[in-house]
Amino acid sequence: MVQKIALEEHFLSPGLVDYWKPTVTEVPPAFAEHLYKRLTDFGDLRLEAMDKAGIVRSVLSISGPGVQAERDPVVATKKAREANDFLAVEIQKRPDSYSGFAHIAVQDAQGAADEIERCMRDLKFAGAMINGHTNGLYLDDPSLAPFWERAEALGAIVYIHPTDPLVPAPVLNGVPALRRATWEWGFETGSHALRLVFSGLFDRYPKAKVALGHMGETLPYLLSRFDSRAKLYGVKLAKEPSQYIKDNIVVTVSGVYAREPLMCAVDALGRDRVMFAADYPFEDVMEAGHFMDDVSIPEDLRADVAYNNAARLLKL
Ligand code: MN
Repeated sequence: MVQKIALEEHFLSPGLVDYWKPTVTEVPPAFAEHLYKRLTDFGDLRLEAMDKAGIVRSVLSISGPGVQAERDPVVATKKAREANDFLAVEIQKRPDSYSGFAHIAVQDAQGAADEIERCMRDLKFAGAMINGHTNGLYLDDPSLAPFWERAEALGAIVYIHPTDPLVPAPVLNGVPALRRATWEWGFETGSHALRLVFSGLFDRYPKAKVALGHMGETLPYLLSRFDSRAKLYGVKLAKEPSQYIKDNIVVTVSGVYAREPLMCAVDALGRDRVMFAADYPFEDVMEAGHFMDDVSIPEDLRADVAYNNAARLLKL
């Protein structure tokens, strides 16, 4: 087994359970219970799953929208801070196995800037994870300048995790099997990342770093399309869109365990830009681990994707 660092591994803290519950209303109650047990465990269940899959370090992040779904900015800021303190205590118990991504309430941009700094400096977190839009606010919004300034200065990776779109996409009406993880989240999250590129965010913050799961939410496959259409529509950016995706965005394999998209991501973005993730407990950690161990790629590339890239990019 190749040693792995896993980057999209979820947990729940007591204050955030109510935001998570609506995300499992459609799964059988027994499975929701199975997930809840694993999300709230930081001991044997999680460590055994990691061990079986060859994961030597999990970077933990909260599950569900968390405070991204909170309407009251004061409550959101307070609950995010509590969740980060909660996670810091769990990491402290097993610093050799766990790292963390900060949970951030972007409802208050100045507060978000201060919290990501506190999490990076004091709690030694590896970056932040933001669960998509915050009540319809995307991360390219000009009001978030203080947050991006600080994230860039800290060298913090901001992982954009999928969430439901604000309004369910009409094209999927009547085909519930295509909602959410099948297709809807990929389009929503890929679009979110493209907003950052096309709004010129990376011209303003050239060292800002964003991570995407699911092999880059289809972006690596479409680089040339973004460049040719940006030209056609007269998009004014310092570089071609594909160059920002290569320079400012890194991706993880979470939930996509197939060689073709892995090679596409590696070829499109570079072998130093793709990292492992198992999306515990939503995906089968064994399947993720076996994929990374067995996929037909050179051994030095396997070691880079499984471990070295994350160790370097997240300073783990
Ligand atoms: Mn996930």
